[in-house]
This record gives sequence, C-alpha cells and structure tokens, in this order.
Amino acid sequence: MAKTIIFLGPPGAGKGTQAQNLTEKGFIQISTGDILREAVRNETELGKKAKEYMDAGKLVPDELIVSIIKEKLKELENKDIILDGFPRTIPQAEALDKMLPELGRKVDVVILFEIEDDEVVNRLSGRRIDPKTGKVYHVVYNPPPENVDVIQRDDDKEEVIRKRLEVYHQQTAPLVEYYKEKNKLFPINASESPDIIYKTILSVIE
Ligand code: ADP
Ligand code: AMP
Repeated sequence: MAKTIIFLGPPGAGKGTQAQNLTEKGFIQISTGDILREAVRNETELGKKAKEYMDAGKLVPDELIVSIIKEKLKELENKDIILDGFPRTIPQAEALDKMLPELGRKVDVVILFEIEDDEVVNRLSGRRIDPKTGKVYHVVYNPPPENVDVIQRDDDKEEVIRKRLEVYHQQTAPLVEYYKEKNKLFPINASESPDIIYKTILSVIE
C-alpha cells in the first residue's frame, strides 16, 4: 500500500522544509498552502475565494480544502505522499478518514512538529521563498544563495503570524488528541537542526 504521512504542527515548524527533503526518497509533497497560493496567483475561482482568508491568517473553509485534497489524491494513486498542512481541523480529519479507504490508503503516521510560539515567530519572520522553485530559505538559519532572488510571503508579517498561531491553537491543535487516540501520533522536537529532524523522520517512516 502506498504510504500516507501527515505532517502536523504550527506554521513555521519546518513541515515544508522536511517535506521537500523527503521528495529525495520518492515522496510527493501535498501542501494545501502551496496549492492555494498558486490558485491566488492564477486568479482562479478557488484563489478568489481563498485570498481574503489567507491574507487575514484564517483557515480557508473546510469544503474548499477537502475537495482540493480529493482531486489530488485521485491524481496520485499508488504514490507515497506527505500531507503538509492538511488536515487542519477535526472536520477535515474526519473527511480524510472517510476518503482514504475508498482510495486504497490509510494514515500510516502523523508526525507532530513540536515548537514554541516565539521560535515560530523567529522562523516565519525570516522565511524567504525562491518563487521559481518554491524552495524555502531563512535569512539566518538557511540563507539563500546570492544568485537566487527570494520573496517574502504576504502572510509572514508579525501581526498575521500571531493570528495564524492563534488559529493553530484553537482549530488545529485538537488534532493532536484525535490522532493520539488512534495511536497514529509521533511527536518530534522541531526546534532541533534540520539534519537531526530529517534523520528522525526517516527512522520513523522507513
Ligand atoms: P512550515 O512548512 O511548517 O510552515 P517551513 O518549512 O516553511 O515551515 O519553515 C519555516 C522557516 O523556518 C523557514 O524559513 C525555514 O528555512 C526555517 N526552518 C525550517 N526548519 C528549521 C530548523 N530545523 N531550524 C531552523 N530553521 C528552520
Ligand atoms: P501554509 O502554507 O500551510 O502556512 O498555509 C497558508 C494559508 O493557507 C493558511 O494560513 C490558510 O489560510 C490556508 N490553508 C492551508 N492549508 C489549509 C487547510 N488545510 N485548511 C484551511 N486553510 C488552509
């Protein structure tokens, strides 16, 4: 059976960085945030609906997100995948539990990235992206090469970061208990270095 791994944790915990690392091992990263940002850039119907929520640091409505994921999972039959940034609410997790068996999948493990809010603020305020490749950098912890022109995400401003953290604690953190009860949760210390975290994740999923 193809592997289905969930990355759970606050924004800025390093989920995208590690999901990008795992593409080396044949995993496909499904980032709902990346899908939504592309829709906003292309001014699609989805993008128009999602933009105001994203700019405000709020979650996009569950129905929109669940239908995006359904499409993606159908496209990626038999591929090992990382769900990065999904599910983010209990109704999203329930919808996922319902759709996976129909697609011949189950959740293998949920990796919980544990990190303090202040460190999240440090990481997100220094985050930079290469818009051509989507690769994630940090001005201090992982500076981009000189020949790469990076951009800063609109929602990586301090006031929006604080709102996203609040939303995480209110709407997403209940998933910790949800997956703990199902014996799927594997917590990791996300304040370690990227190399150590990568090795830990590999040992869990291989
Ligand atoms: P998420 O996908 O969880 O929102 P990212 O992977 O985009 O988080 O990481 C947020 C920021 O923190 C980025 O600037 C990234 O370069 C940096 N970062 C990621 N992992 C680490 C780490 N282990 N130590 C220090 N900085 C990190
Ligand atoms: P991310 O790139 O994961 O930090 O997500 C950026 C933004 O996209 C979030 O602040 C939300 O507005 C939206 N988003 C991404 N994934 C989801 C999701 N699973 N449910 C609701 N909104 C989401």
